Amino acid sequence: MSSYLFSLTFSEMEKLVPGFPRYRYAQLFDWIYKKRIFDLNRMTNISGDFRNILKEKTIFDYPAIEEEKNTSDNTTKFLFKLHDGNFIEAVIIDSVKRKTFCLSSQVGCPIQCRFCASGMYGLTRNLDPGEITGQFLLLSRFLKKLPDNVVFMGIGEPLLNFKNLMDSLNIICSEEYINFSQRRITISTSGIPDGIRKLAELDRQYNLAISLHATDDITRARLIPDNASFPIKEIVEASMEYFKKTGRLITIEYTLIKEINDSLSQARELAGIAKKLRAKINLIPYNAVKGREFTRPEDRICFSFYKKLKDLGAHVTFRLEKGSNINAACGQLRANKISE
Ligand code: SF4
Repeated sequence: MSSYLFSLTFSEMEKLVPGFPRYRYAQLFDWIYKKRIFDLNRMTNISGDFRNILKEKTIFDYPAIEEEKNTSDNTTKFLFKLHDGNFIEAVIIDSVKRKTFCLSSQVGCPIQCRFCASGMYGLTRNLDPGEITGQFLLLSRFLKKLPDNVVFMGIGEPLLNFKNLMDSLNIICSEEYINFSQRRITISTSGIPDGIRKLAELDRQYNLAISLHATDDITRARLIPDNASFPIKEIVEASMEYFKKTGRLITIEYTLIKEINDSLSQARELAGIAKKLRAKINLIPYNAVKGREFTRPEDRICFSFYKKLKDLGAHVTFRLEKGSNINAACGQLRANKISE
């Protein structure tokens, strides 16, 4: 059991700090999850003895904002410093229709995709449930309200920090705490078949996004190291099980990279995979990362890839990466900080 205040449930709190009437715990949770006040000294109805024992037995540290950057397209990116000096990132994407939080699940990433800044230094450690919930709460406090959507597309592979992510989502989605809808949460994975099946078994209503980026295993191996990559066939089978079990629509994330995965024949294969999965495709032109060899295809190539998918009847959105002028490609703020 974690002792981060942000990750404790009622019963865990009663075990860790026993002997207080239930309404005391309820008052504390009300301050944190409803009022989003995290400073014990500002929780006016918390008694002195309860406050002292909380200070002694729980970790009150939450991610602290180290850096905040805004763009003209209303994206705000945060670099958070954790209690042990590690850094993670989270983003608020503010479109006309909705406000979306993009959150991290790990410090670094074990997958080490060759095009991504987050994986550059491998995995340092998993985030504690409290550090995941903490990002959600701090961004909500910044926004002065809850978001419309949450996506786990920040630093890390969420399905490789499965238990901590689920513990955090239990707090975020449970009526007793934040009461945020499961249907507004998207878990984005590089494609871990066992993790997808485990998630399906839970039978929750989370959306699943698969970062496929290729339509054949040879091309995928150029982007994702062998030891972290699973055959596309296995990923597709596990995703079909997820759809069957939960009924939730799957999204295929496909980053368009010049002369790697941007040909029209690859568009045709992608449309075939999407059809099999009844999935929506999100096309994202690559956002250049310092120190990585890949580049973004010209706009005309991106548009003809998109058009081909459309012509083949695929459900496709063409997402121009927001925030490219603030190092918004996942993990770049952290990479800059580490290399300072
Ligand atoms: S793209 Fe995602 S899975 Fe790949 S290294 Fe980056 S954070 Fe990890």
